[in-house]
Amino acid sequence: MAAVVAAGAEAMVVTHGPDVRYLSGFTGSSGAVALVGGRAALFTDGRYTTQARVEAEGLRVVIDRRSPAVQAVEWLVAAGVTKCAFDAGQTTVAAMEAMKKALPSSLRRSFLVATDGLVARIREVKDEDEIALMRKAAALGCRLFADVLEFVVAGATEAEVAAQLEFKARMYGAEAMSFETIVASGERSALPHGRATGAKLPRRGFVTMDFGVLLGGYCSDMTRTVHLGKGSDLEWDVYHSVLEAQQAGIAAVGPGVSCGEVDEAARAVLRKAGLEKEFSHSTGHGVGLEIHEGPRIAAKQEQVLEPGMVITIEPGAYLSSQSRSRAGKPGYGKPGSGKPGSAAAVFGVRIEDMVLVTEGGGEVLTAASPKAWMEL
Ligand code: ZN
Ligand code: ZN
Repeated sequence: MAAVVAAGAEAMVVTHGPDVRYLSGFTGSSGAVALVGGRAALFTDGRYTTQARVEAEGLRVVIDRRSPAVQAVEWLVAAGVTKCAFDAGQTTVAAMEAMKKALPSSLRRSFLVATDGLVARIREVKDEDEIALMRKAAALGCRLFADVLEFVVAGATEAEVAAQLEFKARMYGAEAMSFETIVASGERSALPHGRATGAKLPRRGFVTMDFGVLLGGYCSDMTRTVHLGKGSDLEWDVYHSVLEAQQAGIAAVGPGVSCGEVDEAARAVLRKAGLEKEFSHSTGHGVGLEIHEGPRIAAKQEQVLEPGMVITIEPGAYLSSQSRSRAGKPGYGKPGSGKPGSAAAVFGVRIEDMVLVTEGGGEVLTAASPKAWMEL
């Protein structure tokens, strides 16, 4: 509540699903939590009567036909609250108008105090129970990678590889995948977000697999890039530059270190290798109840890492026809420097681990999956 008070409010209404779950345990798709002083209540509708009472045990549960946010606001007004924080980044204009309408006219202009991500910020630092769940989710991801390798063969489609990952995930107890599985093969590996398609895996070339499961409500997220057939020198070089960058990023993780410093540790390696422009995204992100949450591991981010945060470190390099034309440096993208018999060096490499920030540095939660160059 200290953060709520600091924001100039005496109470808070929370409607963003993962925040509601974090505060109450309730997993339904429509719910709101109201907080005032030491009291909290969960509001939802009749579809969730039983579920809400079971999941939000110990919390006051109110069931009503009206929107949970409106119910929450009315409950706070009845409790004598005159200022209430809400997360502007997670509230639609329509929801805000509905909450305003529910207020007595004397409070309509002053009651709602916009804040940004109060609960999300608290969620960035995981407690012991959450860390235990995230370890399990990460371990399940590693198990899937080991299992799927036998299906990573020339001629299989990306979708078939994704389907094997997803089938096994459910068989091993995952509630769902934590995001749409990425399997990007051959030239498609140059797409940082190449969703699995009907494209067939090539006889020679990279296959990037970026996937995660949802287990106990928590997400895992990892990427491995393997090579089918014998790789070229260029492919080998780029892979090892990305791996070195990823290891430098992990080595930089520790309490008190800024997210920008971690990003720079990884980015500097790729810059030195002449691949700065080919690393076209940020180094990582927080992960937890949501697949992408704070903190952002990106250039110039001043936020400082704290023990209990779980982040990803996922540098990549993507060589496309554009990067060939503007690379202008020896070795990369010159005709003939790619696969023998091919003028185009269009491919990508990404390697991603989940890292828990500890008192002493960082602990890789997905360490069970090997990262050494793999030719299948
Ligand atoms: Zn990922
Ligand atoms: Zn990620």
